[in-house]
Amino acid sequence: NQDLNIEIAEEIAMNFNYILTINDDEQTKPTETKQEKDILKERWEKIYSEKKDKFKDRAPVVTVMGHVDHGKTTLLDHIRKTQVADKEAGGITQSIGAYQTVYNGKKITFIDTPGHEAFTEMRARGAQSTDIVILIVAADDGVMPQTIEAYNHAKDAGVPIIVAINKVDKPNANVELTKQQLVAKLNLIPEDWGGDAITVPISAKSGMGVDDLLEMVLLVSEMQEIKCYPKGNARAIIIESKLDKFLGPVATVIVKDGILKNGDFFVAGSTFGKVRRLIDSNGKTIKQAGPSTPVQILGFDEVPSMHSILYAVNTLDEAREISSIAKEKEESKSKQKKHVKLEDFMNMMKENQKKILNIILKAGTYGEIEALKNSISKLKNSDIDIEIVHAGIGAITTSDVMLASASNAVILGFRVKADSKTLKMADKEEIQIKRYDIIFNLIDELKKALQGMLEPEE
Ligand code: GDP
Repeated sequence: NQDLNIEIAEEIAMNFNYILTINDDEQTKPTETKQEKDILKERWEKIYSEKKDKFKDRAPVVTVMGHVDHGKTTLLDHIRKTQVADKEAGGITQSIGAYQTVYNGKKITFIDTPGHEAFTEMRARGAQSTDIVILIVAADDGVMPQTIEAYNHAKDAGVPIIVAINKVDKPNANVELTKQQLVAKLNLIPEDWGGDAITVPISAKSGMGVDDLLEMVLLVSEMQEIKCYPKGNARAIIIESKLDKFLGPVATVIVKDGILKNGDFFVAGSTFGKVRRLIDSNGKTIKQAGPSTPVQILGFDEVPSMHSILYAVNTLDEAREISSIAKEKEESKSKQKKHVKLEDFMNMMKENQKKILNIILKAGTYGEIEALKNSISKLKNSDIDIEIVHAGIGAITTSDVMLASASNAVILGFRVKADSKTLKMADKEEIQIKRYDIIFNLIDELKKALQGMLEPEE
């Protein structure tokens, strides 16, 4: 029975996941009832913008990317084996899609389905799962096409990158040459060459240098100030989901904020449920999971869509209601066009802002890429910029489509094809793929698009 000052009232509200609004205008009309799903989102966005000082550090979430056979799996296995958080567990460690390790008393979470496709797919769905990317490059093979692709995916997401130069135990490993390629092909200048790219020589097989790598992860993580809101209802990203023969629908999440507890009600996209069991990456049943902890959840009513965001809520009714609204929204959203096309690029851009056209460029050879980049750079002017999100050689792939979806880009292929799976995905994601055989045609269409003069297709 006492007046509370605003600070304390806010603190209490936050503990229950409510945002305090201070209403000092008597004439203020009651706020419109918003759709519940938006309220959840806004709740967190508000916490982010207003409560930064209440945030705590959380463990960094790391994804390992790189060209096939450069050692992603070997590195992840090595770290898991040597640095497990809970050595007691031993025995059967089942993969739930991510695990947590402890190095120098600090936790690090690794997503152990390596690769940039899943990473970018999450981003395309609006979920940034990763805080730090380890880009692995084998020193006996150097910078390869998927190294470039992975790098561009990470760069576009704005995630800090640590380069692990792997396989240095091999007699034909050439660290110097690999560094030269980092400079030439990725414009990444190693720190010891006067640049700011962090490179760490390692052998994922023997474990040499892996400690240095983990130290770098922690250092970068400190500089990044990776924060969370540590209390209240959890918010988590679904990184894997499936229908298990015995367990029913299961999903692995990485908790972003708050504490996910056994018995919590939750909403994830258009599905909902109640946490019946939480299983950690050592296969142990746990009662609760805090920020950056990967955990498998049982208790969904159906398999949730991968990469959606899970929110814990207070009651089952709330969960049900929000999920049915989300379902409706998802359906109406899937009918909306959302990505840029060359033909309507100019219309989509707002007045008086710098217009940026994002493109992904694929061609048959490096020579062609260089020639195209050169011609494209001449089309830019003070009002219009063309951002080449990724340029690579080889066919147009599903991973290009995901990147285009995440970065709102058009895909331009020069003398390369896309297979039917890629075309299907592009259709679903509403990504425009344009193919050309003559440089002049590609440049001419781009030029017209930038003038808003390209006629619609068909
Ligand atoms: P991924 O495709 O990137 O996951 O690559 P893998 O981890 O499967 O590694 C591909 C091959 O390279 C395997 O035969 C590994 O044993 C080998 N390999 C990975 N790291 C090293 C290393 O540091 N040194 C040596 N000599 N071989 C390695």
